[in-house]
Amino acid sequence: MTAQPHTQAATRHDWTLEEVQALFALPFNDLLFQAQTVHRQFHDPNRVQISTLLSIKTGACPEDCKYCSQSGHYNTGLEKEKLMAVEQVLTQAREAKAAGASRFCMGAAWRSPREKDMPYVVDMVKQVKALGMETCMTLGMLDSGQAQQLADAGLDYYNHNLDTSPEHYNAIISTRSYQDRLDTLANVREAGMKICCGGILGLGESARDRAGLLLQLANLPQHPESVPINMLVKIEGTPLAEVEDLDPFDFVRTIAVARILMPEAAVRLSAGREEMNEQMQALCFLAGANSIFYGERLLTTNNPETSSDRQLFAKLGIEPLELGTAASDEASEAALLQAVEHEKTAHLFVDAARSSVRHGSAREEGGLQPHKDCPKLTH
Ligand code: SF4
Repeated sequence: MTAQPHTQAATRHDWTLEEVQALFALPFNDLLFQAQTVHRQFHDPNRVQISTLLSIKTGACPEDCKYCSQSGHYNTGLEKEKLMAVEQVLTQAREAKAAGASRFCMGAAWRSPREKDMPYVVDMVKQVKALGMETCMTLGMLDSGQAQQLADAGLDYYNHNLDTSPEHYNAIISTRSYQDRLDTLANVREAGMKICCGGILGLGESARDRAGLLLQLANLPQHPESVPINMLVKIEGTPLAEVEDLDPFDFVRTIAVARILMPEAAVRLSAGREEMNEQMQALCFLAGANSIFYGERLLTTNNPETSSDRQLFAKLGIEPLELGTAASDEASEAALLQAVEHEKTAHLFVDAARSSVRHGSAREEGGLQPHKDCPKLTH
């Protein structure tokens, strides 16, 4: 197949499966060329947005997502934590802000928030907003009333992923339906919030399923502002611990097709990035990825991941950009430098996926380990 010239990217919501599969089938170089062409029409090709995350409630989730260390259905050795006190969240948000973060993402391992939890999460949103930060939450399913409460509190983004194609979905989760997820997304939109919604690759899905996931995302009435594309991190104790590895080129192709289908969205490299080498990450940026998740330990001095990310950015001439801000080059760089140097915050950003089975505790091991997964990224 010959690549078609793609000089004018249009934002469409009527893609067909055949069209999406045709993009996946392009020769690799042609696909990346198209994706990079689209990318440059909508984004600065040398800027990458960085997000951070705080787990406000960890583990014991009643859902049975077969990839997740936080599901109460599997024994993954995860240390469970109750809902964090508002003041504790606020303390960490202040520290994050002081170290340069402009968006604060908060995640809870719930099926959906209980009514008695809502006043606390609403208060968290209000108080973090009052610090002048953007806010994002992932709390599971929301009904329309809950979505409106969060929107009224000032929540900017809500994360809720589709995970995979509708056809593969039942092999991955049985405790909530695909339609449940679409309903939550509709409630979030109706309430006026921005959406962060993507999926996970490497769940044993087929190429058609990867096309099917992107088709669902691209044909939403409004594209998600943020599209996280996760690579499965296999967690010992979960049913997908032994699933076959995804070919890295299939991952890069999925990034490229997502960029073409949703030209204005921030396409985010999320869970699994730590297991990608520099060359693969560079290919992902070339394919149109322009957002990364550092997880909860961005702001730690001895985080080797942060340091290696800075080195990779420098090698590629990429500069960090916080979405929703007009930070200058110098300010962005200064913020990241400050984050790296900020020793005092090293104890504040705990590992949401603290699993003695697979990862061990960073503190127990006397140093911060590469961040292997962050289950809230796949909520
Ligand atoms: S991905 Fe989210 S909903 Fe699913 S088990 Fe994990 S924490 Fe629960």
